[in-house]
Amino acid sequence: MADYDVVVIGAGNGGLTAACSLAQKGVRTLLLERHNMPGGCATSFRRGRFEFEVALHQLSGLGSKDIPGPLYSVLDRLGVVDKLEWIAMENLYRLVIPGKIDITLKADREACIKTLQEYFPTEKENISTFFDLVYQFCIQFLSTYRDAEPTPENYPAYFKYALKSSQEVLDECFTDPLLKLVISTYWGYVGVPPSSLTFADLAMLLFAYIELKPGHLKGGSQALSTAILDQFLAAGGTVRFNCGAKKILVDNGQVTGVVTEDGETIETGYVISNASTLTVYTEMIDPQHVPEEQFKILGGSTVGPSSLTLYVGLDCDPAVVGINETTNFIGSGTDPDQIFANFHQIDSSDDYVLLSCYNLSDPDASPPGTSQIAIVDLKYAEPWLELPPHQYYEKKYAVADQLLNQVEAVFPGFREHIEEIEVATPLTHMRFLRTPGGAIYGFDQYAKDSNMFLSPKSPIKGLYFVGAWSGSGGFQPTLSSGSAAARQVIKNMRAKEEVQR
Ligand SMILES: Cc1cc2nc3c(=O)[nH]c(=O)nc-3n(C[C@H](O)[C@H](O)[C@H](O)COP(=O)(O)OP(=O)(O)OC[C@H]3O[C@@H](n4cnc5c(N)ncnc54)[C@H](O)[C@@H]3O)c2cc1C
Repeated sequence: MADYDVVVIGAGNGGLTAACSLAQKGVRTLLLERHNMPGGCATSFRRGRFEFEVALHQLSGLGSKDIPGPLYSVLDRLGVVDKLEWIAMENLYRLVIPGKIDITLKADREACIKTLQEYFPTEKENISTFFDLVYQFCIQFLSTYRDAEPTPENYPAYFKYALKSSQEVLDECFTDPLLKLVISTYWGYVGVPPSSLTFADLAMLLFAYIELKPGHLKGGSQALSTAILDQFLAAGGTVRFNCGAKKILVDNGQVTGVVTEDGETIETGYVISNASTLTVYTEMIDPQHVPEEQFKILGGSTVGPSSLTLYVGLDCDPAVVGINETTNFIGSGTDPDQIFANFHQIDSSDDYVLLSCYNLSDPDASPPGTSQIAIVDLKYAEPWLELPPHQYYEKKYAVADQLLNQVEAVFPGFREHIEEIEVATPLTHMRFLRTPGGAIYGFDQYAKDSNMFLSPKSPIKGLYFVGAWSGSGGFQPTLSSGSAAARQVIKNMRAKEEVQR
């Protein structure tokens, strides 16, 4: 008999959800995590009197007990929804481009439309028509999941717009470039500009955040990761921290085991990997066992952006420096393609950044009279990898300084209230997340690398993937991917009568 029915590699969102779902179905599951804590991106760390959230800014897809979103049912099945204190945000975001625009959109369809119409009165009708299209499209998109044979006649908006670029649809609907920029602000959550972002992605972001509200939770994403781990352990699962998986053993096209970094061999017929497909196929499985096709598929994908992230603790309330919103996008440029091109350079002076101040949604996010802030500037790892080591620290603090200049222009006095600051470059994210290029959303999120086209199942029997590299990045998709992969494994085991339930 195998040592475990399933070995899950990695305790990020995808791995934790998969492991917990399996253990709760009575499957003997071992979870291996090379770090000393659960969560992957979904963690926190301490500096001074602050506990900094690493990754979560706005949770999507949760909703509430009355209006449950897709993530609600995933977390409810794991038994963690009632164990955590959820926070719904009132606003989508504030976008500030000094001298050009300063606008805050509510997470409410009518209020959002009203604000946009007040700012852009000449596009009043177009704004209403655009939101009608977004809603019509998303309702049709969601209905296709329950339809075995969706047709263009039944879902015309879905078939017409799903794979169009957001820019095409924005150009079709609006004339004012600033309005297009305001409406597509969330492209930063996917990491590809509107010219490459599918309309499906933009529409679903707007629809989901408006209808289900952007969310957060007390204790941040670490509280969620710990709660899922606790449920996994309560269901009889086994976890090993500080225990990386080095090899996945394959014999005759079938998974047979895992070798840990300590050299121990664990026998199993199923592996679910939260480590990237890139790492698994090129480093963890001996090449003769990897179908040639997989190398071709990988060759068509590119590693997505990481980020230059500033974790800042202020010694004052947010209002003292004029921060009145949780979610703030700040930029100087108005051309998303140029902003995207900047992802490839170290310089940060003209970047478009996300600044979250958690205290506006959760006053307990830091000690009384202080503020916890995260500033995210998406950046690819390449220029950082090419930097001579002796220049690293100088560059890291120089670009952090450039970001602070941008922040200071919008929130005067910010700098003088900094009590703690930690700067994470793409290299820091590589080190702690162990993802190729420190990528935070997996591969570049072009449509072909999304959930629409990728299967979590490998052609190698018994091997499955979860997390950002097996579909879309972000909290909701990666948490949902764990649940989907667990369902597939159980279905397979049932077919082979390896589980009773
Ligand atoms: C700064 C930042 C801001 C972000 N903002 C948001 C946001 O606002 N909203 C949003 O939805 N998303 C956001 N994201 C993205 C989101 O956090 C990630 O896409 C998601 O958490 C990735 O989950 P995952 O399942 O792919 O696992 P990961 O988080 O990548 O975790 C994988 C785990 O596997 C472990 N592992 C890897 N290889 C091995 C091995 N060989 N053996 C054992 N363990 C291994 C790693 O140590 C890690 O713990 C952000 C991310 C970052 C870093």
